[in-house]
Amino acid sequence: MEERNLESNNTIDGNFEEVTVKKVIEFKPPLYRQRYYFVKNLVNQHKPKKVADLGCGDASLLWLLKFHSCIELLVGVDINEDKLKWKGSKLSPFLGDFLSPRDLDLTIFLYHGSAVERDSRLLGFDLITCIELIEHLDPEDLARFPKVVFGYFSPAMVIISTPNIEFNPLFPTVTLRDSDHKFEWNRMQFQTWALDVANLYNYSVEFTGVGEPPAGSEEVGYCTQIGIFQKNHAMPSNPCKSEQHSEIVYKPIFTVTYPSLQQKRFRQLVLTNEVFREVQSMRRTFVQNLKPPNEESAKSEDTGLSNACITLLKPVFTEAEKNKIEKSPAPFCIGNNFYVPLERLLAYPKVNRLCENIEVLKALLADSVVLNSDGSALKVDLLDEEEIY
Ligand code: SAM
Repeated sequence: MEERNLESNNTIDGNFEEVTVKKVIEFKPPLYRQRYYFVKNLVNQHKPKKVADLGCGDASLLWLLKFHSCIELLVGVDINEDKLKWKGSKLSPFLGDFLSPRDLDLTIFLYHGSAVERDSRLLGFDLITCIELIEHLDPEDLARFPKVVFGYFSPAMVIISTPNIEFNPLFPTVTLRDSDHKFEWNRMQFQTWALDVANLYNYSVEFTGVGEPPAGSEEVGYCTQIGIFQKNHAMPSNPCKSEQHSEIVYKPIFTVTYPSLQQKRFRQLVLTNEVFREVQSMRRTFVQNLKPPNEESAKSEDTGLSNACITLLKPVFTEAEKNKIEKSPAPFCIGNNFYVPLERLLAYPKVNRLCENIEVLKALLADSVVLNSDGSALKVDLLDEEEIY
């Protein structure tokens, strides 16, 4: 079976069984990835803002989820502190995250703690995932789990995945899939437990899974069974976060905040860069148009390469965007100064997305550009290409 070693070496998810199991069934993509993609698809569908992964292990699912622009808060909790250590660098922003910041904020926390302990920082989430976690809980903890996750954390949605023991006979030497598993359930056992939990805490639940059985063995069901729980909003819900006492139990291991356009300095950087690019392009066009026709061919030979680059890098506008730009006040020149009206800049879609109005545009550009005397246009030297920084 094509599976990564998530747990210990004598596991179905590990390498030890790989040779024997390969004869029987091969999952493509590997089963652990199918579970992650399943969560990713649900995130795409439901666009949660706050997501927590209980029993997050080496934070692989969190790493995949951090690319979703809808998520603003991502939390991983695991009882094994060693698994969480050093996962920081994996979850830290790349250079590209600074060059092209997200639209919305993203903060990631990793906590050392147990899924069966209450911590008020996990209140008010849109989605809590428990991927291959419950089978690691002993009976006492399994009994506490619904009280904490559904009764206390009470998120809008919970995804629980766990092995389907009915699939195990397809693995020749397996009784339980991992030495740390306290139990593995058949579909009836999981669904009975899940329906009881859902009824008790006012959730509805649907069942599905990943890891298709091979042809001829369809009756065993998916290798991994999954319950998707959704809170019934019509029913009276728990007091909201502000009404609950704060309970801080988990130990913070790692925190990071991503650069985003919500943060002034990154919005300023992106805006200044965009304005600089558009102004350069307008000024070049303006200078080109000033040249007498006989000089034009010589000029285009000189600047042919750089103009070609600029053309390639130029954004492509829709007809409506082009019209909006053309209708706005045009750039002009007085003496050696080239002026671009702020209204013109605001007509460019990217600039417009970064600033709601002229006042915001002015405030964000204040430190990086020179304006004309009435503050309505950006002023640069007609010939000095480096000036506006
Ligand atoms: N969810 C991850 C994944 O799918 O890749 C890891 C799954 S691994 C099979 C189970 C994880 O649950 C381990 O990292 C283990 O340390 C963690 N775990 C076990 N009991 C826990 C508990 N009571 N609270 C939080 N995490 C727990």
